[in-house]
Order: sequence, then structure tokens, then C-alpha cells
Amino acid sequence: MDYFLSEQQIMVKELARKIAKEKIQPVSAYYDETEEFPWQIMKVLSESDLFGVYIEEKYGGTGGGVLDLCLVTEELSRACGGIAVCYAASALGTYPIILYGNDVQKQKYLPDLASGKKIAAFGLTEASAGSDISGIQTTAKNQGDYYILNGTKQWITNGGEAETYIIIAMTDKNKGARGASVFIVEKGTPGFTFGKKEKKLGIRASATRELVFTDCEVPKENILGKEGLGFVVAMKTLDISRPGVASQSVGIAQGALDLAVEYARKRVQFGKPIISFQGIQFMLADMATQVEAARALVYSVARMVDSGNTRVSKESAMAKLFASDTAMKVTTDAVQIFGGYGYMRDCPVEKFMRDAKITQIYEGTNQIQRSIIGTGLIKEFASL
Ligand SMILES: Cc1cc2nc3c(=O)[nH]c(=O)nc-3n(C[C@H](O)[C@H](O)[C@H](O)COP(=O)(O)OP(=O)(O)OC[C@H]3O[C@@H](n4cnc5c(N)ncnc54)[C@H](O)[C@@H]3O)c2cc1C
Repeated sequence: MDYFLSEQQIMVKELARKIAKEKIQPVSAYYDETEEFPWQIMKVLSESDLFGVYIEEKYGGTGGGVLDLCLVTEELSRACGGIAVCYAASALGTYPIILYGNDVQKQKYLPDLASGKKIAAFGLTEASAGSDISGIQTTAKNQGDYYILNGTKQWITNGGEAETYIIIAMTDKNKGARGASVFIVEKGTPGFTFGKKEKKLGIRASATRELVFTDCEVPKENILGKEGLGFVVAMKTLDISRPGVASQSVGIAQGALDLAVEYARKRVQFGKPIISFQGIQFMLADMATQVEAARALVYSVARMVDSGNTRVSKESAMAKLFASDTAMKVTTDAVQIFGGYGYMRDCPVEKFMRDAKITQIYEGTNQIQRSIIGTGLIKEFASL
């Protein structure tokens, strides 16, 4: 399908695809097995200028947008969803600075994030605050020149590996939704340590870790926006980052489909390659159609964001919901096409199914995406 990408976008996509094929594919099983953080690949992405594809040129990026980020994430995910999320989660931690940072903050943090010299992470979730972020217990007490942070964030992607952390904490618990604020916290700040690193079902190359704040002094100038904006920053960030998870889903689904077609052409049963059976062809046809439909939706939403439209909650949720459900379905069907071999750990397709599952959970579960879409419909209906 022709998506009428710009010359620069075609270049970015092809470069990401080359890196995925030549550098990531050969090592994806290794990182899945060892759960090591793939610094070697992050270095390649950094040297190829791919970390800054969505960041303005004046802050060291190459001046593209969300669609450029999606194209890279999709291609990397086609080889490894775990390595791709290390890259994409850095964008999740960078968007709040792009959206709400002042010029001093942008000058200070964006160039290193655009070059990939440093990577970022986004710390919202806590033990008591998953889908319901009003359960945040981490506090940030205003003490003159500093905010004092106390609390624990859990399951933070790039935790321990990133240098730059975006942390949502309560500055005034009595103010409810208006009582949260967002801070940039640098690795190495006294009182900021890392807890348990999780062992996971999929995306095992990525680091998922606790962030622990104990009387951690964060300079006052590190607040993003102003006090009380925390939930707005978090929601607006997720609105523009969800197409990224959706593109990870498209890439994972495409990777599994590629393997399924290749295997179906080679595997012979009843004297014929299994691809000649209508039962298999129809499965592959449905898988390919679903992947293309998901891709079309993701690119459209990414373009909507890049055009400057700020009311994208519903569409962004649709892209994340549809693409991640597609990834789960397509990867499960791909395992089915491989038969018993698909269930074996030394067969590459089972990893795609394990990697796909998380896309239905993080950055808001798909139940929450349906709620966002439902709320959007109610609002639109009310304004008719
Ligand atoms: C590998 C991994 C990486 C992650 N990375 C990050 C990160 O970088 N930064 C970060 O801040 N967080 C991160 N998270 C957290 C992730 O965003 C949360 O897990 C997710 O938002 C869901 O929260 P929960 O797990 O607490 O589920 P819960 O909120 O406890 O939900 C449990 C179940 O109830 C359902 N449910 C809850 N409320 C409703 C409702 N109102 N209506 C219908 N169903 C509902 C959910 O859909 C789900 O099925 C990560 C999680 C994982 C597993």
C-alpha cells in the first residue's frame, strides 16, 4: 500500500529496516534469553541519528514528527518488540519535555535525547495507581529551591538504564486531579535509587524496574509546566505516544506474518506446501488485511497529531486498541500456522506472540482505551 510518505520518511523507514534486519534480527533471541539491556543496538540507533527523528532541528533532532517515530518503531518491532520498546519508551519520556518544557529545559535535555547519548523514561505507574492514576502516592513537597520527592514507581520501562526521568508526583493531595505535578529527575540525584528489575513474559530485552525516591531533592527549575498540571501532562503525553505503541504492534504483527508466509511456503504435508491449502491461505489473507488496516489507522492518527491537531484522545486510543488487538490475533495465528514447531522456544515465532501481549496492557489497557473512545463518542454526540 502506498502511504505517500515524504522522501525523508522513506529514508528513515528504510534505514530502520536495514538496522532491524542486519543488526537486530541476529541478536533478538540472545537478548530475549539473557534479558540484557541492548546497549549495543541503542548505540547503532544513536549513530544512525534515529533517536531524534521526531525532535525539532533546533534541539538536535532531524525535524520529523510522530509518523517518523512510528515508522522507526514499526521496523524495529518487525525484528524485536523488546528492543523496539527501549527506543520508543525514550520518546515517551521525551514528549513531556517537548510539550511542556520551557526553552531552558528543552536546551538542556533535548539535544542529548535527540542524539541518543542519553535515553529517557516515563514514571507514572505505582502499586496503587495503574489504570486509575488518581491513586498516585508519590509526593513532591515544595521546599523553597527544591521539591522533596518520596515514593516508589513500578514497572518503569528503561528504569535503571535511562538518564532522564519524567516523574508524576502529588504536590497537593487535597487538590485531587489538580494536585499532581511533573518533574524531570536525573539519574544520580541523591535519594533516587532503583528497585527490583522485573522478569517478564515478553519484550524481555527491555528493562522494567522500580524507581525509588527517598527524600530526593529535585531542583525547583525541574518542574514541567507548573504545579497542578501533572495529570494534564500525563494525558496529553499518552495521547501522542499511543500511536507509538500501535506502531510497535503493527511491526510485531508484520514480523510474525512474514515468518508465517515463509514457513507455509516451505512446510510440506499431504505432499504439498501447506500454503496451497485454502484453510491456511484464508488465515494468511485475514492476517495480512488486519495488519494493513492497523497500519493505515496508525499512520492516519500519527499524521493527525503531526498536523497540529491536539484533540486526538479518541483516535489515538483507537489506533492503540486496534493495532494491539491485531498484533495479538495475528501472532497467535502465526503460531498456529507453524503447528507444533510454533510452540517451541527455538522457533522464532513464539517470541512475537509473547511480545505482542504487552501492547494490549501498557500505556493504558485496551479496556481503558475503549473507555476513552466511549467518552469521546458521548462528547461528540452531546455537541451534535
Ligand atoms: C512491561 C511493562 C512496562 C510498563 N512500562 C511503564 C512505563 O514505562 N511507565 C509507566 O508509568 N507505566 C508502565 N507500565 C504500567 C502500565 O501502564 C500499567 O500496567 C497499565 O496501565 C495497567 O495498570 P495495572 O497493571 O495496574 O492494571 P489495573 O489497573 O490493576 O487493571 C487490571 C485489569 O482491570 C481492568 N480495568 C481497570 N480499570 C477498569 C475500568 N475502569 N473499566 C474496565 N476495566 C478496567 C484493566 O483493563 C485490567 O484488565 C508498564 C507495565 C508493564 C507490564
